[in-house]
Amino acid sequence: MSYKVVVAGGGLIGASTAYYLTKSGAEVTLIESKDIASGTSGACDRAIMLQSKKPGPTLDLAIESIALYKELEAELETELEYRKSGGMIIIETPEEMAAMEHMVERQQKAGIDVKLITGKEAQERQPGLSKDLIGSTWWEEDAEVNPLKVSFAMANAAKSRGAKIKLGTPVKRLLTENNRVIGVETPTEKIYADAVVVAMGVWTPKLFEPFGVDVPIIPRQGHILVSERMPSFLHTGILSAAYIANKLKRNHQSEDPDPFGVGLAIGQTHSGSLLIGGSRQFTGYNTETNPEVIRKIGEAAVRAFPLLAKARIIRAFTGLRPYTPDGMPILGPVEGMDGVYIAAGHEGDGVALAPISGKIMAHMVCGENSGMDINTFSLSRF
Ligand SMILES: Cc1cc2nc3c(=O)[nH]c(=O)nc-3n(C[C@H](O)[C@H](O)[C@H](O)COP(=O)(O)OP(=O)(O)OC[C@H]3O[C@@H](n4cnc5c(N)ncnc54)[C@H](O)[C@@H]3O)c2cc1C
Repeated sequence: MSYKVVVAGGGLIGASTAYYLTKSGAEVTLIESKDIASGTSGACDRAIMLQSKKPGPTLDLAIESIALYKELEAELETELEYRKSGGMIIIETPEEMAAMEHMVERQQKAGIDVKLITGKEAQERQPGLSKDLIGSTWWEEDAEVNPLKVSFAMANAAKSRGAKIKLGTPVKRLLTENNRVIGVETPTEKIYADAVVVAMGVWTPKLFEPFGVDVPIIPRQGHILVSERMPSFLHTGILSAAYIANKLKRNHQSEDPDPFGVGLAIGQTHSGSLLIGGSRQFTGYNTETNPEVIRKIGEAAVRAFPLLAKARIIRAFTGLRPYTPDGMPILGPVEGMDGVYIAAGHEGDGVALAPISGKIMAHMVCGENSGMDINTFSLSRF
């Protein structure tokens, strides 16, 4: 039987879901209010970093996802700028060292062969790093990819497998009949389907509000600075220990002594520009940049790479991470509303988890066994 499925949202997660659904033989309509990757997936970094992910369901997902990424360029016959570049978490203070020692021990127990290296070894591995660093982690399996290319390639692959793609078309509401979702309404038409997958990132809760269903996804703003083109010098993905500490903070309701959550995340695009992040802040749906945050990110970058003091920043932007209270995405059906599924809430891991999220959703909707314990990701855990 061929399922008729509407996917709402054309970011990394919606495009991936549409692609894998077409592979499972579904008849797909992907509906995007603006353009492919016009939301968070077009305002983010490019890291597929597994070394710091907590052992358990999210790490398991990430391992499956990286396996899919390794095949994806060949499968989609498209250059995605996927590169197994390895990754480092740089350490500036003894407190950070203690936290990273703990993390490395935990990851090694889980079979992730991440190592602690000295500051000197870090500089040898990545020339230009500050001599003041007291150490770093290193794991060779971390990777990077261009999220825009992934989103477009998956949407295009879905299209060439028969999916209809409607851009500039907001889903206004879910259509229901006897507690069952039977399709969606756009400004111009009603589209009926056997199933609807809502992959609208931080905008996902809006479709469920009229039904009294609370989807606890909160926008968590992050800044990125873009440098002028520079000769290629970053050989690996680099985060700071402060970045990891801020990512793990779950304090959206309380006062935070560091309101901007600044920690370094730096990578270099194929064209030579540096993408320098980041910050983590709950500012609602506001995407304005803040000069104070930009300055603090610049300072963190120059502390790590003194040579960047002379680099020119050509622009800065923000993106909204779809935060959930436990840091895990929501992938699954909605209790009491048959026919609708959520694929959203990937916070700072949506690039890394896009392929596996789409594959899981396709299996779930088409009634196939994904071979993974996916109940952990259901909305009903909240
Ligand atoms: C600064 C920053 C850095 C990041 N760095 C990384 C990283 O290095 N590695 C990593 O793994 N992750 C990273 N992330 C996280 C990652 O970008 C997100 O998890 C991911 O992009 C979320 O994808 P999505 O498809 O769920 O959401 P989106 O990309 O936001 O897609 C949702 C789509 O839904 C559309 N939409 C909204 N309303 C409607 C409607 N009514 N009808 C139809 N369509 C609608 C939007 O236009 C949008 O295109 C970062 C995020 C930020 C902000």
